[in-house]
Amino acid sequence: MKLALLVFGLVGAFFLVRALFADSSSTATVTPGGARIVDGRFENPLDRRESAGFLRSTGFSIRKISTSIVARDGAAKRVPFDRSAMAHNPSITWIGHSTFLTRMDGVTFLTDPVFSKRVSPVSFAGPKRAVDVGVPLEELPAVDFVLISHNHYDHADRDTVRELARRGVKFFVPLGVGELIREEGGEAVELDWWQNVEMNGVHIHCVPAQHFSGRSLTDRNRTLWAGWVVKGATRSFYHTGDTGYSPDFKRIRERLGSIDLAAVPIGAYSPGAMMSYVHTTPEEAVQIGVDVGAGRIMGMRFGTFDLADEPLDEPPVRFRAEAERRGLDADRAWVLNVGETRSW
Ligand code: ZN
Repeated sequence: MKLALLVFGLVGAFFLVRALFADSSSTATVTPGGARIVDGRFENPLDRRESAGFLRSTGFSIRKISTSIVARDGAAKRVPFDRSAMAHNPSITWIGHSTFLTRMDGVTFLTDPVFSKRVSPVSFAGPKRAVDVGVPLEELPAVDFVLISHNHYDHADRDTVRELARRGVKFFVPLGVGELIREEGGEAVELDWWQNVEMNGVHIHCVPAQHFSGRSLTDRNRTLWAGWVVKGATRSFYHTGDTGYSPDFKRIRERLGSIDLAAVPIGAYSPGAMMSYVHTTPEEAVQIGVDVGAGRIMGMRFGTFDLADEPLDEPPVRFRAEAERRGLDADRAWVLNVGETRSW
């Protein structure tokens, strides 16, 4: 009996030790900014992502192939751009999706510049632009720098990067994304979450987001994803990049102070089982603006590329309704037309 207990005890201890040290074969580190890296792939601090299931994912892929062939209605409205309004400082111009031209405190910069017709590894297939860019690349004023949030095709576009690199524009990117910029002839500064650099009198802060990255079947999460806060003498601007809702936004306010203008992602939330961890609903996007103490909250990432199941024109309707419900009037919760410029 005693021998049996001893054997059971030893076996139990063996499995306990094995369970405790099961990770020892994989290499896990944490960047100073708090992003986990496991076997060379980044992870979000709150890694609770669950698989959406084969059937749901396959059905979604089939629907998206079909909408890339036969476009749906509901694209964002486009207005002619106004060069004199664009010259105003501070101002912001929506070029489409997550691409903005922002002027503040003497600097001019682009966020997630994408000017191509498709956001895909190949030029003949994949999500197609549903509304032309608000300002053509050749009509842009001189730009001091570019901020890229992550390497997904709808945020990091090689043709656009190449053209901006040719003009000598400097890129700020999350860890690992610099290689893509350098391959296209550009100069890139890579930042970890919570790192910041100064350029032309403004501070550029790389801040956390809850998302993922990848451009092929093999490079998933090899590079980091982020949002950006730009703080100048008189204004502060926040671009969330792509993100799910998380505790990050309250922390951003705690560490960097409140924001004057926050661009928040309001599209690509359906089906929720696939999207909710990595994208926000319009209601969550409003909450992000509230969390960071934004004076103005501006919806982005909708009506340009058909990336999810919800109707293309549903996000701004839900965003406005939620803003109104929370007492934010039209001057505090913005939905721009593509090509429109507003002062802020
Ligand atoms: Zn993305």
